[in-house]
Amino acid sequence: MQMAFECDCGKVKGTVDANRLKGYRAVCLCDDCQAYAHYLKRADTLDANGGTDIIPMMPSHMKITEGMEQLKSVRLYRAGMFRCYAECCKTPIGNAMASPKMPYIGMPARVFEKKSSAASVNEIFGPVNERMQAQFAIGPLPPRAQKKVSFGFMLRVLKFMLTAKITGAGYPSPFFTSEGNPTLVPYVLTKEERESLRPLCGTLRTDI
Ligand SMILES: [Zn+2]
Ligand SMILES: [Zn+2]
Repeated sequence: MQMAFECDCGKVKGTVDANRLKGYRAVCLCDDCQAYAHYLKRADTLDANGGTDIIPMMPSHMKITEGMEQLKSVRLYRAGMFRCYAECCKTPIGNAMASPKMPYIGMPARVFEKKSSAASVNEIFGPVNERMQAQFAIGPLPPRAQKKVSFGFMLRVLKFMLTAKITGAGYPSPFFTSEGNPTLVPYVLTKEERESLRPLCGTLRTDI
């Protein structure tokens, strides 16, 4: 089935094929995802622990139907993920791996909640399966948060990418041309920009 997504102001619209995506949803608490939200001045998109609720998508299953011209991409480091957002309202839309050979786009669950209720998003994609990278989380954590990533979840992600490869769902991607070049030329943060964001993020904790 198709699920619609939108940026907060509605200029960017799209759909995904939401079949067989249960079990992969995870909240990422890493300091990079936090820094990215602060770069966009969208700390409101983070949960109380600084986490981002992410649903992985196979690239060819994601279609941007309106507002492609609003999309921008940023990398926190020269070799970092392509983090794609809607310039119009600074809504994070999807994080793609730096190489099209890694068929994965992580989409924030909230972009689906504009068109569908949180309950139906839960039903279609399943509940959050893991809270990962809790070593950078802020404040008291829910039970079973993982310091880094659990082995079981890593295996699931591997299965996800293998499935995408085997079924050819890696191409076409909204974020890569058929030659494998990024469709949006990413802006790479300077060291100063990156460092100015760090104090806003959780720091490595030792109590987990
Ligand atoms: Zn927008
Ligand atoms: Zn992260």
